[in-house]
Amino acid sequence: MDFQYTPEQEAFRVTVRNWLKANLSPDLCVEDARDERIAPNRETFERRRTWQRTMYEAGWVGTSWPKQYGGRDADLMEQVIFDEEYNRARAPVLPGYSGVALCGPTLMQWGSEEQKTRFLQRILSGDDIWCQGYSEPGSGSDLASLQTRAVDAGDFFVVNGQKVWTSGAQYADWIFMLVRTDPNAPKHNGISYLLVDMKTPGITVRPLVLMNGHAHFNEVFFEDVRVPKANLVGRQNEGWKVTITTLMFERAIAGGGNYKEQVQRLAALARQVEINGRLAWEQTWVRQKLAHLLIECESLKYTRLRSLTRQLKGLPPGPEGSMLKLCGSELGVRIAQFASEMLGDYAMINEPSEIVPDAPRWFNRVLSARQYTIAGGTSEIQHNIMGERVLGLPKG
Ligand SMILES: Cc1cc2nc3c(=O)[nH]c(=O)nc-3n(C[C@H](O)[C@H](O)[C@H](O)COP(=O)(O)OP(=O)(O)OC[C@H]3O[C@@H](n4cnc5c(N)ncnc54)[C@H](O)[C@@H]3O)c2cc1C
Repeated sequence: MDFQYTPEQEAFRVTVRNWLKANLSPDLCVEDARDERIAPNRETFERRRTWQRTMYEAGWVGTSWPKQYGGRDADLMEQVIFDEEYNRARAPVLPGYSGVALCGPTLMQWGSEEQKTRFLQRILSGDDIWCQGYSEPGSGSDLASLQTRAVDAGDFFVVNGQKVWTSGAQYADWIFMLVRTDPNAPKHNGISYLLVDMKTPGITVRPLVLMNGHAHFNEVFFEDVRVPKANLVGRQNEGWKVTITTLMFERAIAGGGNYKEQVQRLAALARQVEINGRLAWEQTWVRQKLAHLLIECESLKYTRLRSLTRQLKGLPPGPEGSMLKLCGSELGVRIAQFASEMLGDYAMINEPSEIVPDAPRWFNRVLSARQYTIAGGTSEIQHNIMGERVLGLPKG
């Protein structure tokens, strides 16, 4: 592993930092971007869409995308540096995140020329916001069992069924979704991958409200929805290959995030908050727990660096890749649990206070941390993958 940045990389960091300083207005910033990946209301969504356009015009959206599709062709280290600076500035997750990170790269690999021309640039600019229609009420971990049906009707498909947990569907212009086009084929074979305009008659979006009051995701119902054949990605009944491409992009970015900053912030709060009449910091268990969590953050950082080193050397993903999603999301839960133990009532109110000015952040962390152990493949599924594919254990 090489921990040194080259002078060019340092210069790139300064460029990104300065640009964000000059362009990111404070009212766009968020305490913890990961807990507000979807805008809490339409007004915030529209402000973030404008922000995406500003970034796009300066060439900062889709930095890793090839130049021919409007990206920067940024190498891996530049992407890492960009992400570090973006998080450091407390900038919000872009509303077009699903398009930029998942749908766009999938279309580059599987889309027709017409689809690339029609969609890619609009994904970057934020003109089209996308959501992901994979999960269904009976199909999450076992995604290939999905039941939403698309019947071939000549120039178009007729879609009927339901998706669930669809993040950001309430704002989305388009959905990339999986449908069953051959109910008689073995389950992985009869699936197709469709691009569907959310304004098509027959689509109903019903928000699901989380316990922190945030409508992050939705149920999406399809009733006789007509989708032109031109919106099929890859071949009919061979959508599983396309599905896997999107999932690979999704897992590659899961489990990220710098938890160290959270633990450092809790260490600072420990000097302000009292537990049973004494400062939290004066209690041995609090200091031990903070030390423990910090060690875990460092271990995760080096695991991430090992994974990065493999990629830079052109090696295939190793065990580190599988560990990152699992260990990162589980560490997030342990930090949130500790925050609720140490902050007590302060973590239960969604209002700033003198002693804990960032109480809303901890309130949201406590209520939201577990979602990352579910989204993009649950912890149990990650354990299965590591057991079977990394350690070579027999299937359970
Ligand atoms: C915040 C968030 C955002 C999401 N956004 C989207 C989105 O935008 N679009 C979308 O399509 N989906 C989205 N999802 C859905 C997500 O992909 C699913 O929740 C996930 O795949 C798990 O599926 P499930 O909820 O149906 O649980 P199930 O698959 O029913 O699992 C239930 C439990 O059984 C366990 N289990 C299942 N199979 C096994 C097994 N073989 N071995 C051991 N244990 C097993 C699971 O680990 C889990 O604990 C989102 C989820 C969350 C939490």
